[in-house]
Amino acid sequence: MSAATHYETVIGLEIHTQLATRSKIFCGCPNRFGSAPNTQICPVCAAFPGVLPVLNRAVLDMAIMTGLALNGQIRTVNEFARKNYFYPDLPAGYQISQFELPIVEHGEMMIEPEGAPRKRIGITRAHMEVDAGKNLHEGIQGASWVDLNRTGTPLLEIVTEPDLRSAAETGAFLKKLRALVRHLGVCDGNMEEGSFRCDANVSIRPLGETRLGTRAEIKNLNSIRNVMRAIDYEVERQIDLIEAGEKVIQETRLWDANQNHTRSMRGKEEAHDYRYFPEPDLPRVVIDAARIEAIRAAMPELPDEKFPRFQKEYGLTDYDAGVLTADREMADFFEQAVTAARPADPKAVANWVTVELLGRLNREGIEIAQSPVAAEALGKLTRMIHAGVISGKIAKTVFMHMWDKGGDPERIVSEQGLLQVSDQGAIETEVDRMLALHADKVEQYRAGKVQLMGFFVGEIMKAMRGKANPGVVNTLLKEKLAG
Ligand code: ADP
Ligand code: MG
Ligand code: ZN
Repeated sequence: MSAATHYETVIGLEIHTQLATRSKIFCGCPNRFGSAPNTQICPVCAAFPGVLPVLNRAVLDMAIMTGLALNGQIRTVNEFARKNYFYPDLPAGYQISQFELPIVEHGEMMIEPEGAPRKRIGITRAHMEVDAGKNLHEGIQGASWVDLNRTGTPLLEIVTEPDLRSAAETGAFLKKLRALVRHLGVCDGNMEEGSFRCDANVSIRPLGETRLGTRAEIKNLNSIRNVMRAIDYEVERQIDLIEAGEKVIQETRLWDANQNHTRSMRGKEEAHDYRYFPEPDLPRVVIDAARIEAIRAAMPELPDEKFPRFQKEYGLTDYDAGVLTADREMADFFEQAVTAARPADPKAVANWVTVELLGRLNREGIEIAQSPVAAEALGKLTRMIHAGVISGKIAKTVFMHMWDKGGDPERIVSEQGLLQVSDQGAIETEVDRMLALHADKVEQYRAGKVQLMGFFVGEIMKAMRGKANPGVVNTLLKEKLAG
């Protein structure tokens, strides 16, 4: 038995979501990524003496909406706090955050890790805070530069309970949270650009132990894959230490994706190191119940609500409902396609979306929002199959056309002469010709070799370039072969 089986992994996450407001949290500067350094700043961003912060109400609304979506309690009396530390990208010398009175507490999210039962992950809290600027080192000789564009970007830091038990659970959690904030429209979820940043706290303990082990906090994780790799590495490192009779020390470690390891960055600071105190430049924010209810009412349907509705309303399997509610664009695409497909069965639409369209999108690395085939067009295609205008086989040809050049399936079918032939006469002629041509096989069929049916259907479809109505072909063949 390997050492790893004697230990349990414990993980808690701190996720910084950049809120997608138009302006920054405490001033009117645009909240925008990717501009030339220090072009999106003002005296508040640069912390000139005498400036005063004013809270952007959109930040509060987004924080409340996220808290509600996480099934959390929204605090009606909010307080901002100063978190003091020195760093060149923080001109004020402190970060405005929330400490004792955060906007959200006692939330939760259910995760569905692959091949494992649903599990509840507690959300300890979520608090509003301001982002710092950025120090630039790359490609600069003998100096570091400071870009303050990011200063003042609103963040909602979401902190989980130490409820996660593996890299796989952590991956499932992050995917779901990321999809949720994108769904709500509060954050674009872009991990590479740093608008969705995750620090992972990792510890191990002997199986059966209830006290927590000493944790390391891992930073610099810019993709979900890297979070999972870093956890796996860190768990092994900690097990090796313990097995060697040494101790894990509480510290902050950096993930190095190139070296595939974590390395020590600094000892772990404690809350008292930051000398938190209530922010004197901002009054307490009192939120009334009506405002919370208005936000709740305006909230889009959540993925966890969509899933059972899709199953019930459209008769989808767990798998299809899961895929089609994974994000909002996907769910919207499917529902638009279903509308355009009526009266065709939504299950048929689900099939076209999950198999043909997603298969192709995944192969080519394209997001559903950029799909060259529009939802209405795919729905219409399904409707045409349902109505017997084209066969499923021809539909695949039409689909290829739509993928390459876009366009309306009806037009493609008429322009390319792909209309399904349901005309009895035309098909009967072909059936007769085929049976005459293969008289030997007809004998065999009548002698009991019924699997030859597939051969006959195949030959007729081939001769009619896939356009024959398969139902009519089958009926006619059966009649003639029986006679
Ligand atoms: P800090 O703000 O100092 O980083 P917190 O106590 O607020 O510390 O915890 C931060 C995160 O670390 C939370 O997600 C929490 O669940 C997680 N955490 C705390 N202790 C442990 C531990 N021993 N092992 C794993 N995760 C932990
Ligand atoms: Mg921390
Ligand atoms: Zn500003």
